[in-house]
Amino acid sequence: MAKKTMQDVELTGKRVLIRVDFNVPRSKTTGEITNDVRIQAGVPTIKYLVEQGAKVIIMTHMGRPKGEVKEELRLDRVAERLAELIGQPVKKLDQVVGPEVEAAVAAMQNGDIIMLENVRFLPGETENDPELARQLAALGDVFVNDAFGTAHRAHCSTEGVGHILPGVMGFLMDKEISVLGKALSEAEHPFVAIVGGSKISDKIGVVQNLLEKVDCLMIGGGMANTFLKAKGYEMGTSLVEDDKTDLALKIMQHAEQLGKKLLIPVDLTVASAIEQPETAQVVTVDAVPADKMALDIGPETVKLYQQAVADAKTVIWNGPMGVFEVDAFAVGTGAVAQAVASSGAYSIVGGGDSVASIEKAGLNDKIDHISTGGGASLEFLEGKKLPGIEVLQDK
Ligand code: ADP
Ligand code: MG
Repeated sequence: MAKKTMQDVELTGKRVLIRVDFNVPRSKTTGEITNDVRIQAGVPTIKYLVEQGAKVIIMTHMGRPKGEVKEELRLDRVAERLAELIGQPVKKLDQVVGPEVEAAVAAMQNGDIIMLENVRFLPGETENDPELARQLAALGDVFVNDAFGTAHRAHCSTEGVGHILPGVMGFLMDKEISVLGKALSEAEHPFVAIVGGSKISDKIGVVQNLLEKVDCLMIGGGMANTFLKAKGYEMGTSLVEDDKTDLALKIMQHAEQLGKKLLIPVDLTVASAIEQPETAQVVTVDAVPADKMALDIGPETVKLYQQAVADAKTVIWNGPMGVFEVDAFAVGTGAVAQAVASSGAYSIVGGGDSVASIEKAGLNDKIDHISTGGGASLEFLEGKKLPGIEVLQDK
């Protein structure tokens, strides 16, 4: 069922407790924000709340403080950057809850913005402690969840407060849900998906769920090795999940029963080790040397996958085709990124590393939807219900 959005509730004069995902990357040496895309992405929702005359109380986490105060993970810089982007002061508090926070909230005027301290400084956050949820919820009248990236986690600020306050989606959440939801339920065909990454065990749910929806599913990255091994090929020293070869066989049989195309590599770039790109060579899948490992898909496979993408009307890509962190093994991933970007299909890219490779290639503008949530978009594509969305009010 569809969830309520900000337009479905009265916001003027209301204290709005909003969860965003401002977990931005920072420089290890200076702590400066190195990429503020996540903050930018939250601006429209916050602006809208201000325009509606709400009192905006922002919650986010940053990094993994594990329930303790970590000075380097305080949100002062995040609040500063938001203030710059939004052109209005953002009052950053040094606590998440407590008397000081309550006093600051009580003093708010309509349209004011407050940012609470990093919610993960308190152990109760990730434990979804009901007492912390109660304290947080007491600060607001309405809960807006705009943090798609953490929607798969049932934490206090993402889920707990939604049991106490009426909860609605922010713009970013709404966009993610409608784009990904539409892709799963009413995509234009041919619908193709490319799934890569290191392990089949991480992606099995996605592969199984997408196989039901797509016309063609292409496998790359480390997980392709397990499929190849299952077909009887010797994979040398490649990353192979031996306990998953039966599963890979079952998936291939299932694809056949469904009449779906399941493509796996026909050639590979192999090398002695990730650290030895000078030993790289291209081989067909039946000729992987015993002392080498598969680290990228090969050029014939790239052609095959490009072709399938070129014919598509909808394409979803999740997970790199090789060890793209090393240039010598980034060729397949780069080619797939190019193919997805230049296809006329409606394109969706999800997954932390796949999004990073799109950014690395400077192709952001050519993708129709870049999902902001790595784990969350994976779980959504698996067909799972996300607790941070489930808890919101139905329309
Ligand atoms: P995403 O974040 O896009 O969901 P994953 O986290 O599942 O992607 O996978 C990305 C990782 O998979 C990368 O670190 C990459 O180096 C690794 N990987 C890809 N292909 C291989 C391979 N053939 N062997 C080992 N690791 C691989
Ligand atoms: Mg990843």
